[in-house]
Amino acid sequence: MDGMTLALQLKDKVRGPVYADEPMSRHTSFRIGGPADVLVVPQDIKDLLALIKVLSDMQAPFHIIGAGTNLLVKDEGIRGVVIKIANTLSHISRGDDGILRCGAGALLPSVCKNAALRGLSGLEFASGIPGTVGGAVAMNAAAFGGFMAEFVDTVRAITYDGRQISLDRENLEPGTKTTRILTEPLILVEVDFALKQDDPERVRNRMEEYFQKRAHGQPLNLPSAGCAFKNPTGEGAGRFIDAAGLKGTCVGGAEVSRLHANFIVNKGGATAEDVISLMKHVQEVVYSKFQVMLEPEVRILGG
Ligand SMILES: Cc1cc2nc3c(=O)[nH]c(=O)nc-3n(C[C@H](O)[C@H](O)[C@H](O)COP(=O)(O)OP(=O)(O)OC[C@H]3O[C@@H](n4cnc5c(N)ncnc54)[C@H](O)[C@@H]3O)c2cc1C
Repeated sequence: MDGMTLALQLKDKVRGPVYADEPMSRHTSFRIGGPADVLVVPQDIKDLLALIKVLSDMQAPFHIIGAGTNLLVKDEGIRGVVIKIANTLSHISRGDDGILRCGAGALLPSVCKNAALRGLSGLEFASGIPGTVGGAVAMNAAAFGGFMAEFVDTVRAITYDGRQISLDRENLEPGTKTTRILTEPLILVEVDFALKQDDPERVRNRMEEYFQKRAHGQPLNLPSAGCAFKNPTGEGAGRFIDAAGLKGTCVGGAEVSRLHANFIVNKGGATAEDVISLMKHVQEVVYSKFQVMLEPEVRILGG
């Protein structure tokens, strides 16, 4: 079924906006990616559950994205339906005893600001990581020695056949840039963070420190998807890439950042093929010099 026909069928069944043949370059921080047959932004959990039911009845494939800040979408685009959970399911509220309850679509910078205002400590390391709470917890986002999963109390999720479940931190099975949300896979809808009460100003100051470190060490002026490769045990991937002399290497519009060797940036007009070729080249050169095989951290979708 083509994108327009599928979109017309879904428009009757869900309340959130439905887009046909939607360029994914509009929904990724890389500004790269061909069209999704259909992209839907469900309005709330009820809408999301209705959508999952319809898609399962139609046997239409679907993919979940947050704010698209860790994604490389192929130039051929994505067949089936992309369900976007950013700026929807975005509530943030205080629970008992240091619990901060966040919808999966809440943006992490807003969550960090909210925690600081309430003097809730724990997420300081994450201030400045773009994207949604859902993406950050699903990927177990990490920075400056902190990991998202460390601060999770409980999450609520939906299985691909529409069941609502609850998982505590242990059952989330966090690993390096992964959790059970990705491996099963599940749709994350809400997260309770367990944070410690502290002085709001102290929390804000620590967030500002991390934010400044990030601003000086990362190429935030050009589109990217954050770190291209996972860090091999005990060593930053960027160190190997830098030591291999690869900073500034380009394929088409994609470049290994001169500021942070583990960032690939879109200098303008980069295609997914440019980025994939550059990543392969980096892997080959690093392997030939150091016998270390770098593993992609960006999630590649579509094709
Ligand atoms: C400038 C820059 C700096 C960055 N710095 C860091 C950093 O310091 N540390 C770090 O870890 N990352 C970093 N990133 C990468 C990225 O921001 C994080 O991984 C972020 O948490 C991804 O969130 P997202 O909502 O954009 O997820 P997306 O990129 O949309 O999705 C990522 C993965 O999570 C899945 N997913 C998203 N939402 C859900 C959901 N609700 N339910 C189920 N699965 C879901 C998707 O299917 C996909 O597999 C950076 C990126 C950029 C552009």
